[in-house]
Amino acid sequence: MGEAKQFILSRIAAISECETVLVRAALGRVLGADAIAPFNVPGHDNSAMDGFACRFADLNENDKTTLKIVGKSFAGGVPHDIIAPGQCVQIMTGAQLPRGADVIVPKEETRLLPPFVEITPAKRRVGTHRRFAGEDLKTGQVAVPVGTLCRPAQIGLLASLGMAHVVVYRRLRAAFFSTGDELRSLDKAATDKEPLAVGQIYDSNRHTLAGMIERMNFEGVDLGIVKDDKKALTAAVDEGRKADVIITSGGASVGEADYIRAVLSERGEALFWKVAMRPGRPLAYGKVGETDFFGLPGNPVSVMVCFYQFVCEALWKRAGRSGDCAVPVFPATASTALKKSPGRMEFQRGVLSRDDKGAWQVTPTGDQGSGILSSMSQANCFIVLEEESGNVQAGEMVSVQPFEGLI
Ligand code: AMP
Ligand code: MG
Repeated sequence: MGEAKQFILSRIAAISECETVLVRAALGRVLGADAIAPFNVPGHDNSAMDGFACRFADLNENDKTTLKIVGKSFAGGVPHDIIAPGQCVQIMTGAQLPRGADVIVPKEETRLLPPFVEITPAKRRVGTHRRFAGEDLKTGQVAVPVGTLCRPAQIGLLASLGMAHVVVYRRLRAAFFSTGDELRSLDKAATDKEPLAVGQIYDSNRHTLAGMIERMNFEGVDLGIVKDDKKALTAAVDEGRKADVIITSGGASVGEADYIRAVLSERGEALFWKVAMRPGRPLAYGKVGETDFFGLPGNPVSVMVCFYQFVCEALWKRAGRSGDCAVPVFPATASTALKKSPGRMEFQRGVLSRDDKGAWQVTPTGDQGSGILSSMSQANCFIVLEEESGNVQAGEMVSVQPFEGLI
């Protein structure tokens, strides 16, 4: 499975078109050019505390020190120029240090006796509570590298550099459609109010796919339901190739109504088929011109597992994101036994929770069939079981991959 993933990633090329957006609108977008610090942040040495800016040499370690207050400095105000020996300046957090001051004594360690201040004896060091010019970023430094997904921290950092506008890659366009003669569209169902005919099911995959694409902040292009018909599928693929990627569900198997592979081979190239994972087979990857094609299985859980385990990282790369975009996996204790046969990697669905000692434990969400979408809906993590692993006993450690992270 790892090989298949590496193969896909090696074939994916990032889009190159960029656009300029307001810094706030860059949230969830991929930075399209290095953001270089045009000045030092902070611009000047300043205080990290409300207190008194002093000369370290004046302070007694074992006895009180009395200093004359010669000024007051506020953040954003005019800084006090200089302090002579025996003098200090009352200073607020963020205010610029006067020349000569090399230590800040917090207000809590002083007693005010105007026009003097008495400083409690303590072991101090030069530079305590002093923020240095450029300690966050230095002029010319890459503050946020190209290919970074902009989260709130990056937005804040870019704003601290005075960047009202930033360059981001254009949003990725992901076309998707469902295949299957048994599928009924919810949009139609909402208007015609007819119950499902025998053997029909509502198309759920298009809605989970739309959701996953939207959560990645990409532009989804919904191409609807396509019948199990070669001509119709060909037309849908031809429409989909206007986008950067096409993602389909169903029809990728070896059944008599499964035409995806044939259409893909005709219109482009089918690069591989099938992966040793569960749920998930069959999974297709190919190219139609410049457009990457992902053919996911029809079963609703398989669609989600394949999307998260295969497609996600590839889409991030296509969207311009650099570095490792994989969601971390970490160990947790299995609270109950897990059934697993060696031979295929498995992504079971689980609920990650704290036991009474605060340690993380995971409990599977019941029936793990690939059509049981409620197993995904109840879960908050995948339980990742390696190919060679067999049954797991209660109390053993397993790997889990959470659905949610810090946002
Ligand atoms: P297929 O891969 O086309 O053989 O489909 C496998 C299973 O998934 C079948 O039981 C389908 O009815 C079901 N399925 C396929 N597409 C969808 C969909 N869009 N929504 C819900 N179930 C689907
Ligand atoms: Mg089908």
